[in-house]
Amino acid sequence: MLATQDLTLLLDRRAAALQKAQPDLVEALELQARLIRAGLTAARAPEAHPFALPREHLAARVREGVPLLHDQPAHVDVHFAADLFSRLADILAERDDAHLRSRLDGLVSAATGGLLDPERLFGEAFVQHQDHVAEIARQIGVDAELLATLASQAVTPLLRAYADHLLPLLARIDDGTSQGAAWQQGYCPVCGAWPILAELRGVELARYLRCAACGSGWRSPRLFCSYCANEDYQLLGTLTIEGEQRFRIGVCERCKGYLKVCNAFGPPPAALLALEDAASVHLDVAAIERGYHRPGGAGFAIELAIPENEWVEELG
Ligand SMILES: [Zn+2]
Ligand SMILES: [Zn+2]
Repeated sequence: MLATQDLTLLLDRRAAALQKAQPDLVEALELQARLIRAGLTAARAPEAHPFALPREHLAARVREGVPLLHDQPAHVDVHFAADLFSRLADILAERDDAHLRSRLDGLVSAATGGLLDPERLFGEAFVQHQDHVAEIARQIGVDAELLATLASQAVTPLLRAYADHLLPLLARIDDGTSQGAAWQQGYCPVCGAWPILAELRGVELARYLRCAACGSGWRSPRLFCSYCANEDYQLLGTLTIEGEQRFRIGVCERCKGYLKVCNAFGPPPAALLALEDAASVHLDVAAIERGYHRPGGAGFAIELAIPENEWVEELG
């Protein structure tokens, strides 16, 4: 795991390289880099409370395709998320965009007016119940897309902190090949989110999926649709984009889902995935134009168990 200082250094270097390669995306990449930097430069690290996961429970979950956070008494560090949320909103507010500013003003006044319940908002964002976050936006009359974007980015470091604890457990029950990969699902073994991209790593081009929410990486068969588990090679295709060296687009003709695939000599740290995503937005455009989509929501909607000490408080 890289220290925060190394990560910010890496972020600056990567953002500069991408901006040089794609001058038309300078502004979008600059904004994305600032949003990522806000998450890396919080006053303190997010608190993740590790929970016990006995080996036999772990093996059963993995076999049944149940993400490791599901039904666990994970603590959601609401103070961390609320602080990051307001710093992300500040970054967006500096932009020269009147429409964005008016949507932000509505959100900020709802938050400062006490309409926004941070426990509820960040709890829903942590488990990625997008429909519930949209419901909160509707109830308090704020822009749903903006609320969802900011809330999910605000909890990302919390999810990553849990992934740092949980992902090594998974590696222990793997046999080291994609056929023997313990986790056989297209959604994240830690948090249940869909992948944001697939990476082909090493000389053997082993395929890894990277989680859109917590950044976890897990091995996956080469011919496999993450969304519908289709393995029929006749229904799996690849779109290549002229002039594009690093990325291609994996598509599934059964569910019409697409996933960006990149050659990753050094896979980016989880914190930098959003930058790679922003840098390859032309592939999203190409895929969507051809009738493919990335499914919304999560692959597995997790719930959290209520920690025992809070049960006592509720009963008392
Ligand atoms: Zn995840
Ligand atoms: Zn599919």
